[in-house]
Amino acid sequence: MRTVKLFGRGWENAIGLAVDTELVFYTGAGAERSGLSGMFKAEGWVESWLCSACGRILLYGIKN
Ligand SMILES: [Zn+2]
Repeated sequence: MRTVKLFGRGWENAIGLAVDTELVFYTGAGAERSGLSGMFKAEGWVESWLCSACGRILLYGIKN
């Protein structure tokens, strides 16, 4: 097992550039964005592990 970094990528523009965002936080399924900042309130962060034998990715939530 080794730690891995998960990230999302937005749509690429005409010259192939896009914004990557690391996926590191979690919150409850019913959480709503703040009306002021547009951000979710994180309950904790995510640690990601990849099994080098079968490729399974395990996620662990670590509370703030
Ligand atoms: Zn495995």
